[in-house]
Amino acid sequence: MAQEWNIRPRGHVCGICLQPLEDKKPCVSVLRENAEAYERLDCHPACWREAPRDWQPFSVWEGEYEAPAPVAEKHEPVRKETAENLLRKLIALEDPAMQNVMYVLAIMLERGKQLVERDTKPHESGGLLRVYEHKKSGDTFVVLDPRLRLDQLGEVQQQVVSLLSGTHALSDAQTEPAQTS
Ligand SMILES: [Zn+2]
Repeated sequence: MAQEWNIRPRGHVCGICLQPLEDKKPCVSVLRENAEAYERLDCHPACWREAPRDWQPFSVWEGEYEAPAPVAEKHEPVRKETAENLLRKLIALEDPAMQNVMYVLAIMLERGKQLVERDTKPHESGGLLRVYEHKKSGDTFVVLDPRLRLDQLGEVQQQVVSLLSGTHALSDAQTEPAQTS
């Protein structure tokens, strides 16, 4: 059974020939569904075309590999909750009660051009699984689109705003270790 929410990082070497992927060169990304989770494979387009396989991919798209940028040192001690951080935390929690919030966050990130939609698949719940790719890091986000009605949207957006502004705490999502200075 497909998981409703999932994040998978992009690989930096071809999953087939094991040679490094080159910056700004085409790259085929594949999600494979298994009993527990999605496996992600990133590879050279030629390797994907030529390698024999006995399984069906859940989703395949061709994008451009981007080498990771060096991580800049962060200096601000108080970090504002961003939509992306919040979505990552919620996906890790896999709480079905938050499915509408996760979906609205994904839409916000897509409108902000941080996530690009790569694929959609029907889900047994009647919703849609949307496969997004993070523009910078290349991480894959699988998010269930619960097919919200228009009259449900306003309420969910308020929930998102209060979570982002910190007026409504995600009690058990404080996974960040305390900073030692
Ligand atoms: Zn290869």
